[in-house]
Amino acid sequence: MNNAALFERAQRLMPGGVNSPVRAFRAVGGTPLFFERACGAHLWDAEGRRYIDYVGSWGPMLAGHTHPAVVEAVQAAAARALSFGAPTEAESELAEALVRLVPSLERVRLVSSGTEATMTAIRLARGFTGRSLIVKFEGCYHGHADALLVKAGSGALTFGNPSSAGVPPETAAHTVVLDYNDISQIDSFFERQGKQIAAVIVEPVAGNMNLVLPAPGFLEALRSQCSQHGALLIFDEVMTGFRVALGGAQARFGIRPDLTTLGKVIGGGLPVAAVGGRRDIMEKLAPLGPVYQAGTLSGNPVAVAAGIATLKLVEQPDFQKQIEATTRALVEGLAAEAKKAGVAFSSQSIGSMFGIYFRAAPPTSFAEVMQCDRERFNRFFHAMLENGVYLAPSAYEAGFVSAAHGEAEIEATLAAARASFARCRH
Ligand SMILES: *Cc1c(COP(=O)(O)O)cnc(C)c1O
Repeated sequence: MNNAALFERAQRLMPGGVNSPVRAFRAVGGTPLFFERACGAHLWDAEGRRYIDYVGSWGPMLAGHTHPAVVEAVQAAAARALSFGAPTEAESELAEALVRLVPSLERVRLVSSGTEATMTAIRLARGFTGRSLIVKFEGCYHGHADALLVKAGSGALTFGNPSSAGVPPETAAHTVVLDYNDISQIDSFFERQGKQIAAVIVEPVAGNMNLVLPAPGFLEALRSQCSQHGALLIFDEVMTGFRVALGGAQARFGIRPDLTTLGKVIGGGLPVAAVGGRRDIMEKLAPLGPVYQAGTLSGNPVAVAAGIATLKLVEQPDFQKQIEATTRALVEGLAAEAKKAGVAFSSQSIGSMFGIYFRAAPPTSFAEVMQCDRERFNRFFHAMLENGVYLAPSAYEAGFVSAAHGEAEIEATLAAARASFARCRH
């Protein structure tokens, strides 16, 4: 089978031929690849072609694809039971690892997707504070719950359709969207309406509008304003957790949020996410408190086994240091190749996340992200694909490196980039 035929069939069955919009390649044009298998840093498509992967299933595959320890744990768990809908010891083992590794977690609840985690965090913040207003930042994506689909990034941004149809205006009216990294705007908004704010939710490193680092003082300002006004600070670390540092962005920047959402890496490729934080807030959740939340497959034993096995790999000494160095070598190499080709380009990384920008300097705001040359990215994307490198099919996504990416993969990627930059000089 080839990709085109598979895509045609899929389009007759599923809207856009996909089960999540950005996969459809609408932003970059062309036919999406249908994958058959993966190993380490590599993917193989339906036509038998091999690619070096920088998507990593959009973040989860930090340990590399089909790591033997993870596959073995999944197989063993699956042979015991696929689901009980009742407590298992493994859930406590995963929860214990999360509480130990992520500084601000005192209690956690496991769910099945990042969307569920942020939705729960918002409900919990509202239930705890008795307030309705949520503050988010333009370009940050927190999943597709109604209250958060207000000028969201990621797929919604890519399609130039920032807020979704089907979200009641009354729901969106309780969400205020501010500019990422604009400290004076935060100060003035809190001064006016601080006592009405239930929570501020933020990606502590923004990874759904390409990669944007928090400006010095930005996260600190959020922390102090929330504390002063009795609002909760929610770090959405679904992407940054275990990527920006072992303890997430909160460990790297030394900020203690009230609630944290996790996902992606903690399931190692299977559906596990979590919301966690201060004990007094978390104990408002059912069955202890009045805030309802539930899930038939929450804490699923097979998914939890993948998460535990992945975290065991990720917390090994030097794991983070090594992957961070590999990621830095990649972005520095890409910038050097672009410079040789005379292409206006910049790049940066933090932990194992990276951003590439067709712009002279890395963006520090949503507005600057919008100034990147998207056409040039699209040409670069397709050239890289032809040269065996699979980047995210959108100029507005962060990239991900795994522990399986070594010198050979970086070198091959830079060789592909050399050929690709030459094709997007004009
Ligand atoms: C991916 C992501 C989500 C949504 O997670 P899903 O599992 O796709 O629902 C939420 N927040 C952030 C920061 C993400 O990157």
